[in-house]
Amino acid sequence: MKIHEYQAKEIFRKFGMPVPEGEVATTDNEVGRIADRIGKPVMVKAQVHVGGRGKAGGVKYAESAHRAWEISKEILGMDIKGCIVKKVLVTEAVEIASEAYIGMIIDRAAKKPVMMASPAGGVDIEEVAATTPERIMKLYVDPLLGLQNYQALKLARFIYDDIKIARKASQVIMQLYRAFMYVDASLAEVNPLITTPDGEVLAIDAKINIDDNGLFRHPDIEAMRDLDEEDPSETEAKNAGLSFVKLEGNIGCIVNGAGLAMATMDTVKHFGAEPANFLDIGGSSNPEKVINAMRIILKDSNVKAILFNIFGGITRCDDVANGIVAAVKELNPPVPIVVRLTGTNEEEGRKILEEINLVATSSMEDVVKKAIELAA
Ligand code: GDP
Ligand code: MN
Repeated sequence: MKIHEYQAKEIFRKFGMPVPEGEVATTDNEVGRIADRIGKPVMVKAQVHVGGRGKAGGVKYAESAHRAWEISKEILGMDIKGCIVKKVLVTEAVEIASEAYIGMIIDRAAKKPVMMASPAGGVDIEEVAATTPERIMKLYVDPLLGLQNYQALKLARFIYDDIKIARKASQVIMQLYRAFMYVDASLAEVNPLITTPDGEVLAIDAKINIDDNGLFRHPDIEAMRDLDEEDPSETEAKNAGLSFVKLEGNIGCIVNGAGLAMATMDTVKHFGAEPANFLDIGGSSNPEKVINAMRIILKDSNVKAILFNIFGGITRCDDVANGIVAAVKELNPPVPIVVRLTGTNEEEGRKILEEINLVATSSMEDVVKKAIELAA
């Protein structure tokens, strides 16, 4: 789950990180009032779940509360990479002497957290990684021992020559590590981590992605979810008890079981096409789930064929077939449907599908090829 900068900053503050004061607003008048209360020049910053807001004109300086009020009229409602700005953060503007980057992710291959630091901050870190990788220091952390002070200092020294500043930054890196571990993050970064002309170190941007599998431990963070920023079909699927991830292709996939869903996507790709989604209807075969799944998939206008891949175990093929018949009657899908049924009550399932003239195959390869052919 992604959260906004202002929410990530709240978390960082709790862990002692130096973050400039600020408050979030949804109207121009609120922005004016907050800026007035801060009583110093402010930054007005679009709160959307995409990066590069600065370049897109979503981060602006205002020397006065009046100016902040004016600027917020431009930023609120702005479209940044397809996200409409509904909230802005009004935060004290600070003077910048240098901009650096610190971040942390989990390296799945190494099975360890990895800390990253770069003196090339304030710019797209992926670009730094691609063009000048030697400007990023990566340090793997033993998950049992945790990040050690000397390691944090090593990272900080890679950014700063000045030992006093490096010591302050190493504290911030330790705090970033603790915040990341505590909230079950999958990514946490500060870009830029800045120094002021008088040698203070401040986190002026903040990003945290939370591992969805850890969310049940953090109801306070779950409450930060901003439905405006999430794909509406993914929210609908979540509410319907389906695991769904929208993708870019044109083969809509409805599958029982996450592993089979992955295998189905691989097979679609193997035969040269792209899946429109990952969708696991789960182990039970409640027809309602099939109807919901088909409804969600049909909202995607890229979908040119729907592929059911059902391996009957606990899931019974006849239940799924009943779901397919009900879904077709209710939704009258404008795209072809192909079905693979195999396993428990396969024959009964086939009979049921005859009612809507669907012939189910038992071969995964055949059904995938058929879907691709019909979608072309
Ligand atoms: P992003 O573009 O979405 O990453 O948003 P950031 O919060 O990182 O802001 C983009 C850039 O705006 C930063 O790299 C800074 O150069 C500049 N900026 C942001 N806040 C301040 C501030 O308080 N003072 C100054 N002088 N510049 C700022
Ligand atoms: Mn940034």
